[in-house]
Amino acid sequence: MSQESYQQALDDLQAAGQLRRIREVEPDGLPHCVVEGQPAIHFSSNDYLGLSRDPRLAEAAIEAIGRYGTGTGSSRLIAGTNRLVMRLEETLAAFKGTEAALVFNSGYQANVAILQAVLQPGDYVFCDRLNHASLMDGVLLSGAKWTRYRHLDLRHLEEKLAKTPRETRKWIVTDSVFSMDGDYPDLKAVADLAEQYGAMTLVDEAHATGLYGERKRSGLCETFGVSDRITLQMGTFSKALGGAGAYVAGSRVMIDTMINKARGLIYSTAMPPASMAAALKAVEIVQTDASLRDRLWENIRHFALACAERGVEIPTLKSPIAPVLVGGSAVALAHGQALLEAGYFVQAIRPPTVPANTARLRVTITAVHKPEHLDGLAERLAALKPAESAAGR
Ligand SMILES: *Cc1c(COP(=O)(O)O)cnc(C)c1O
Repeated sequence: MSQESYQQALDDLQAAGQLRRIREVEPDGLPHCVVEGQPAIHFSSNDYLGLSRDPRLAEAAIEAIGRYGTGTGSSRLIAGTNRLVMRLEETLAAFKGTEAALVFNSGYQANVAILQAVLQPGDYVFCDRLNHASLMDGVLLSGAKWTRYRHLDLRHLEEKLAKTPRETRKWIVTDSVFSMDGDYPDLKAVADLAEQYGAMTLVDEAHATGLYGERKRSGLCETFGVSDRITLQMGTFSKALGGAGAYVAGSRVMIDTMINKARGLIYSTAMPPASMAAALKAVEIVQTDASLRDRLWENIRHFALACAERGVEIPTLKSPIAPVLVGGSAVALAHGQALLEAGYFVQAIRPPTVPANTARLRVTITAVHKPEHLDGLAERLAALKPAESAAGR
């Protein structure tokens, strides 16, 4: 048997409405894009503030290329640590209110590397059922014992904590804003439980960095006032910060642990200078300029209202992520295609990214959408409703 078994597996996915393929999505001046030739308004990007096209970031990145070149040439522990990344990490530690911070090339890589570094067999890990795949992969790689509690159900978490031997090393691991649902846990309650049961905590702020927190906008740990009580605050530059790469912030001892143990850091070339400079600029911008964030929240409120007026069911929006649940994978794909043909690019998200029978259209709102884009999409979503019930779940 050679490649036929793989073809069979792909055919099976196709039959289940779960085959994935990648499409060309060409930006055409935010929020416009062209999806395989079809012009559309972009509602599938995590670039919530539109910073990926901000001239201030571009200028910083270009300047960094001029000074440092396009690559760093070696890993952080060899010779990949220039003054720019030192400054970025100092800025991040201040941003997050921690002793130290460390950057990684991507959020996926960071989560796998962090968890592999801090966990060992014998440790216990408590994960929200809907945690991002990269968190799960890091836990699996570590060989630690793990269990999942029901989504956002901290009573369920407490039950599990209470059953675990007191002396074992324990970690609670959760997204702050959940990437496919747009909701988030009460991080103060998470910190309380962690302290009560002697657990440490890792919070993934990928979808919250730059958006939440009154003073610095460093994420939901800031909003809940627990920046000094969460062991590790992880986040990315790849979403609201409009760039690429990730960070983890925490105590000196935890960052030193990462430097000594995190294979995803040790055995990977340091992030490109352009990405370092763009990240540094983005962190400065979100702390000093509230205008983009204010516009984003205005758009989120506008879209929620536009949906309510037209009978489109979405959860109460606590973030720029608005999931429209449709149930079956085939229905989600058909709806996504219909929206695209109407000029709205909304990605259909199917299992295994989300649990079975919860396929959805994942709408992301950004600061660069105009009211007419938001109204137009709500209108189109409302027009999909009969097809949804006719097609069944
Ligand atoms: C996107 C995401 C990641 C991965 O970050 P990348 O920089 O895209 O690799 C990790 N965690 C969560 C919760 C995410 O949404």
